[in-house]
Amino acid sequence: MDRATRAEIERIAAATLRDAGLTEPPLSVEQLLQHVQLHRDYYDLANPGFLDRAKHKLRIQGHKLVDIINKVRLQAVLLFDENRICIDQELPRIKHPWASCHETGHRLLPWHKPFFFGDTAQTLDPAYQADLEAEANYAAGRLLFLGDRFTKDARDVVPTIESVKSLAKRYRASLTTTLRRYVEQGPDLAMAMLVSTPLWAQQPDDQEHRWRHFVPSERFSRLFPDSSAESLRVAVDSHASYKKGGKVAEFRLGLVDARSDRHEVRAWSFNNQHYLLTLFVEERRVTETRVVIPHRRIQITGFEGGEE
Ligand SMILES: [Zn+2]
Repeated sequence: MDRATRAEIERIAAATLRDAGLTEPPLSVEQLLQHVQLHRDYYDLANPGFLDRAKHKLRIQGHKLVDIINKVRLQAVLLFDENRICIDQELPRIKHPWASCHETGHRLLPWHKPFFFGDTAQTLDPAYQADLEAEANYAAGRLLFLGDRFTKDARDVVPTIESVKSLAKRYRASLTTTLRRYVEQGPDLAMAMLVSTPLWAQQPDDQEHRWRHFVPSERFSRLFPDSSAESLRVAVDSHASYKKGGKVAEFRLGLVDARSDRHEVRAWSFNNQHYLLTLFVEERRVTETRVVIPHRRIQITGFEGGEE
């Protein structure tokens, strides 16, 4: 997504929120949907009756929905010509606002419309569809987190997992979504999010590694260009102890930056019952006091000795 597209999405989301009178968290999804004149229904998206009606209107990754419905479970769909969003009734409640905002994003971005009606070479191109998905997600984030409001709030709290949890509550978003947003658009700190499968659970088939997502902040990437998701995952697993849900680890680890300086990094791991969500926050560069200060003292002593 280029800078101009981002700016255009930000502009459209901001205008929508302003016109709908939505300024304070949590976002009222009902009010947003009413403003953009979208109905929201709950369906069993795997139900053949629903699919019969919708399958010819829907495509995913260049395939007709009817061809792939047995392989994936849809979370939500937008029936553009019916002004209707359908949410899968099995989708956990905490994910409804994001799914609704994502589909609203498709509806609000005018260049998405041909995708829902046209059968052109472009709309059938999987790469083009991946772009549209990324744009709808970007719009969803701008809507659910009220433009720049989240960033402002995120900069006012101390960087801990507890703060992220309270932000998630304030914005009525899932901890995963909020944590990702905090790392990407929160305070300008060297921090990262890791989503991984705990050692006590089986690695899902669709996952290449034991970790699923690794999201570093810009500052983290610059400071620790050599740190790998896999090494952070190993650190998480060596500290996490089994618990059905909630915090499973809190620890510090050392990371070496590009100039070979050592930094202390604080980490918290949270079990959301599917994955471990870990927040890493760089705290300080470790000053090697034990080495530097005695050396300096010896120099000074020697110098004074020479003066006498
Ligand atoms: Zn989508």
